[in-house]
Amino acid sequence: MTNKTPPMESPICPLPRKHTDKIVQGHGSGGKMMADLIKDVFYPPLANAALLAGDDAGVVELSNGVRLAISTDAHVVSPLFFPGGDIGKLCVCGTVNDVAMVGAKPLYLSASFVLEEGLDISTLEKVVNSMKEAANEADVQIICGDTKVVAHGEADGMYISTTGVGLLRPGLKIGGSQAKPGDQVIISGSLGDHGIAVLEARGDLGFETRLKSDIAPLNHLIEAMLSVSDNIHVLRDPTRGGAASALNEIAKQSQVGIILNEVSLPVKPAVAAACEMLGFDPLYIANEGKLIAVVGPEDTPRILEIMHQTRYGEEAVVIGQVEKTPPGRLLLKTGLGSTRIVDLLAGEMLPRIC
Ligand code: MG
Repeated sequence: MTNKTPPMESPICPLPRKHTDKIVQGHGSGGKMMADLIKDVFYPPLANAALLAGDDAGVVELSNGVRLAISTDAHVVSPLFFPGGDIGKLCVCGTVNDVAMVGAKPLYLSASFVLEEGLDISTLEKVVNSMKEAANEADVQIICGDTKVVAHGEADGMYISTTGVGLLRPGLKIGGSQAKPGDQVIISGSLGDHGIAVLEARGDLGFETRLKSDIAPLNHLIEAMLSVSDNIHVLRDPTRGGAASALNEIAKQSQVGIILNEVSLPVKPAVAAACEMLGFDPLYIANEGKLIAVVGPEDTPRILEIMHQTRYGEEAVVIGQVEKTPPGRLLLKTGLGSTRIVDLLAGEMLPRIC
């Protein structure tokens, strides 16, 4: 796997400019431009401890000691339906997963719809049924919502925003700043399935892969992992920006070096072939049903064992380890024995992927 220059016809957006006075696609990439936007525009006026923790969900403690995890997500995927899922399944699983990634048990969701005039009611019904199925599987309820309609041409079918609330058990501290030298890095399954499946559904691939998106609620998998270990330090779902961006964030939050072993990275042949053709690196492609866990090495065998017994963790493997240096950096040990820096995603590779 190499960081290739994309071919001219590749659907890659222009390279980012750090100092820009207009929003561009790269600001929603999950990569460097988005990180800069959050740091420069959102953090200064809104700063508080939960927000600045920079995790998938904000954690707050109530006066009675109860700890809540809250997360929110806007979903703008195009097309609305793709192999393995649709915007309905995506919006429920995405929010359930973000709440679960701080170790919380997701309980309730809200959903807010922006609908384009002219959208078939039957399309909306299909999406809402998918939401119900995903909520049932995750064992959460959607308890409130909002509906707005904009004129034809002012939205692309529908956008859905979801917010999730979960309960965090006492004493549990899982977050991006908790990785420690010596920890091992586990991924729950193969990289890049969602991004390539959506790209194919858009007709941008030019050949058939039969790939399905990996969208799945991961809260039950996390519950199983937490039942065998109190040595899980970080959990993160590598969505937009892929595993490379998620691991870069963790390395920076914890000020550690993370070293990946290229030969251990699970990539399906169809994803590898699509990436090869388009000049993409699977490490940067979005996943919607995978998690990265950074765990104390003494617990790795028992965590892997229980993951392998679950539907969404049966292909879990160790892909790397945490070291003291270089702080804030993600490195890849290649199959040829060399080591290279893997940076945050620059610009936007696949807009409207989730
Ligand atoms: Mg996330």
